[in-house]
Amino acid sequence: MDLDSHAEELASALGVDNEEVKVDLQNLVEYSVPIDEAKQSLRRKYGDGSADAGGPTTKSIGEITPDTGNVSVTAVVLTAGERSIRYQGDDHVIVEGELADETGRIDYTAWEDFGLEPGETITVGNAGVREWDGEPELNLGEHAAISVTDESLDVPYEIGGEATLAELETGDRARSVEVVVVECETRTIDGRDGETEILSGVFGDESGRLPFTCWDPRPEIETDATVRAENVYVREFRGVPEVNVSRFSTVETLDRAIEVGTDAPSLGIGQAVDSGGIYDVELTGNVIEVRDGSGLIQRCPECRRVVQKGQCRTHGDVDGEDDLRVKAILDDGTGTVTAVLDDELTEEIYGGDLDDAREAAREAMDQEVVADRIRERIVGRAYRVRGHLSVDEYGANLDANSFDEVAEDPADRASAFLAEVNA
Ligand SMILES: [Zn+2]
Repeated sequence: MDLDSHAEELASALGVDNEEVKVDLQNLVEYSVPIDEAKQSLRRKYGDGSADAGGPTTKSIGEITPDTGNVSVTAVVLTAGERSIRYQGDDHVIVEGELADETGRIDYTAWEDFGLEPGETITVGNAGVREWDGEPELNLGEHAAISVTDESLDVPYEIGGEATLAELETGDRARSVEVVVVECETRTIDGRDGETEILSGVFGDESGRLPFTCWDPRPEIETDATVRAENVYVREFRGVPEVNVSRFSTVETLDRAIEVGTDAPSLGIGQAVDSGGIYDVELTGNVIEVRDGSGLIQRCPECRRVVQKGQCRTHGDVDGEDDLRVKAILDDGTGTVTAVLDDELTEEIYGGDLDDAREAAREAMDQEVVADRIRERIVGRAYRVRGHLSVDEYGANLDANSFDEVAEDPADRASAFLAEVNA
């Protein structure tokens, strides 16, 4: 390696001017300082004191942990999407996405406009590493230096953010989806800049459905439209991942038809709960308990929350309205979830409507008889439940759209068959 190459590498790793480093390096070498020692002393000089050994270390992505100090990496830009955030009272446009090399992928946030383009191989000098949700993430601030390299890395990941709805996860950024707008409504919210109109609804594609919010309403997004949305991000809302379309997203009408998948993924309860929330999922398990607050209940006429002894937590003394619901604990051996059934599903398993329930309660002079009858019918039996799974401070709740008894446990059926054969 000649002096120019050493200078270039060092300048890029430290995020400082190439010429300046070259002059310093030349001086040191002219004073007979060995090249490695010269570079080390320049790392100390330009390394902005962030790392003890002087300056960032060159690492592969797979080696980076949340405890790694500042680093230099050579990587391919997989995605780059603009987003606006409010930072210390000002709107600031940042660029977020993913970088990859042969050893792995890592999220980044760029606080300056470095002009990153998906597909480019870049060397990032002096990137900060911070922890986000237990994972390392690169922070490209004003001290970072970015140069596009000629050699292009071959990475085992797809460039660009193409994703199906089923593949999207909370925290994803700069994704592109092709979807049908299954539901869409305009809402007025009290945003950080006063009243703002937004769109909210449900997107669908072959893989399933996910709720969305569009912070910058546009005519392409309307019920039954088929669109391609680029540079969307995913965040959690009420315990479920949600697609966010911002003013930096591009949305265009597609002229191909998209069939919305009707299958929900079927998962073990433990695995589903660990995923942190799924918009549409199917879980199967045994009902081990029907929780208090099931059967015939009363709701606050203002906020629809369940009232106890005529008291709403927010609205105080209210005249509660009767309703039916079930909160059933479902267990499959890997985890538990509370399945929440609305009035219609409750009527089915109770075998009667609201009037029947009221009459039963009046006769017994105790509305708990309704919940008791539901307990007798479902506790100890296996059910397949499909709905929205949310996991948050209220626990793991499955807001059920369907609740079907599983005719027979496959294991029971197998042992019964074996018994028959052996007999
Ligand atoms: Zn209330």
